[in-house]
Amino acid sequence: MERNEFIDYLKNQPIMNSHSHHLPDNHHSKLTLRGVLHNSYVNWCGTPVPSGDSEEEIATWLNAVRTRSYFVWLEKALMDLYCIDEHISAESWDVYDTAIRQAHQDRDWHLGLLKEKCGYKAVLLDTYWSPGQDNGHPDLFKPAYRINSFFYGYNQTARDHNGNNIQVMHNQRITDIDEYTDFIYRVLKERKQAGCVALKCALAYDRSLAFGEATKEEAQRAMVNEPDMMDIKKFQDYVFDCVCKMAAQLNMPIQIHTGLGLMVGSNAMQLQPLIARNTDTTFLLMHGSYPWIGDIAGLTHNYPNVWADICWLPLISSAAAYSLLHELIDVCDANRVVWGCDTWTGEESYGARLAFLDVLSRVLYERVEAGLLNEHDARHYAKAIMHDNAERLLGMGHQ
Ligand SMILES: [Zn+2]
Repeated sequence: MERNEFIDYLKNQPIMNSHSHHLPDNHHSKLTLRGVLHNSYVNWCGTPVPSGDSEEEIATWLNAVRTRSYFVWLEKALMDLYCIDEHISAESWDVYDTAIRQAHQDRDWHLGLLKEKCGYKAVLLDTYWSPGQDNGHPDLFKPAYRINSFFYGYNQTARDHNGNNIQVMHNQRITDIDEYTDFIYRVLKERKQAGCVALKCALAYDRSLAFGEATKEEAQRAMVNEPDMMDIKKFQDYVFDCVCKMAAQLNMPIQIHTGLGLMVGSNAMQLQPLIARNTDTTFLLMHGSYPWIGDIAGLTHNYPNVWADICWLPLISSAAAYSLLHELIDVCDANRVVWGCDTWTGEESYGARLAFLDVLSRVLYERVEAGLLNEHDARHYAKAIMHDNAERLLGMGHQ
């Protein structure tokens, strides 16, 4: 088997994308080069995306971002999708800008990027700006319901980092913890009936992932006007255990953001006690817990209810994704690894897919060459991680 032949084989395989924040239709029709960059992780590199008018500004920005993995894969995507040979520079800026504007005059271009260019059969969508949406395309997008607001429903004034509080969203004034968890269960059931296939927790941007055990009495203490930090922690710890049990009952997997975020307390190993207490719940630990990728390998080794969702990781660092994938093949069965793009636009999604297929083909090819894997198993593994595992996951949510 030649490596190129193997990459071509992978490029033609359908994908079930485990995680995306693809923006609603009206955002894409207005896209420019600046818009694509602005709605991408290149905008997370600490140097503002230039307006495109000043040569000097573009040069300074390029110097800051051009070696970053986020930029490298997005640029490759744009060059490939818009058939441009020149790299992004002040001179080529308008060429990219015009190509993007023209393509998006076809209002379905962004969906075509996902369906035809990326080969996605389905995409788990986390619309954190309005949790639980399918962007009006239920054939393609399957909502993963963001549950951050559950952890801020202890009173009427708290808000999660997207500005939500589940009580306020549903016009409730509950002050009793039992009533509150009953209410949460009703919300989850309703969401499931509305088509949500998974739950998504992004609390690593707000607090440590060390969810300890808490009693009902401890949780109740936060349900007053001015709870202290410990009361809030206990409330959130208690609510997460309840949500894990409800998710198991409703057969909905829970996706949890691990790594980066606040950094302090965001490594996946912090979740070990929660996972050990909730063996009937399926946990998808996302992003390879970067930079603590070993945490994911260790947890999948010991806990059959833990899946590795390596969404975003090949874009953050292809090198880290490469290492983790090698480790996962060593320690975790082929049925519990999935990938998603974790992006806002079709262009960046295509770049994320390029990064992922580069890592996947490299790792599998090396293992075949080294005699650690036969060719048939390499193809089987690729199909599992690209499609079959996430398909099973979607099936879980539908039961
Ligand atoms: Zn995400």
